[in-house]
Amino acid sequence: MTAPPDYRAMLAVAVEEARQGLAEGGIPIGAALFARDGTLLGRGHNRRVQEGDPSVHGETDAFRKAGRQRSYRDTIMVTTLSPCWYCSGLVRQFGIGTLVMGESANFCGGHEWLREHGVEVVDLADPECIAMLGDWIAANPAVWNEDIGED
Ligand SMILES: [Zn+2]
Repeated sequence: MTAPPDYRAMLAVAVEEARQGLAEGGIPIGAALFARDGTLLGRGHNRRVQEGDPSVHGETDAFRKAGRQRSYRDTIMVTTLSPCWYCSGLVRQFGIGTLVMGESANFCGGHEWLREHGVEVVDLADPECIAMLGDWIAANPAVWNEDIGED
């Protein structure tokens, strides 16, 4: 029997990425893509502010850093926040089997839609993730609304 994946340890990598983004003056959202056995494939964070690129979300950054994978069925996308529609689309398009998110309190993206389509979805409701992004949103409402596509 193999041990179940340690989702908390995986989330810690995504949180490190979010913190790095925060230190860079960016939006604190991080993500990492893992193989089922716990091997880290790629990690990244939102760099909308740093690079002026609205397409660099935590999930897309981690996904690109992971390079080409033969199959995504046994991969786990770990993100500090419920994925937006863009990143939910990425999970579905490539058939990523499992989504682990730090929280869905500050923002609720497409995770229920992914669950309906057979993705295993785990919400860790992590207080640190909720506080880190919540504090940042309170201090930066305009950049946040830009990031989630609200006018
Ligand atoms: Zn996204």
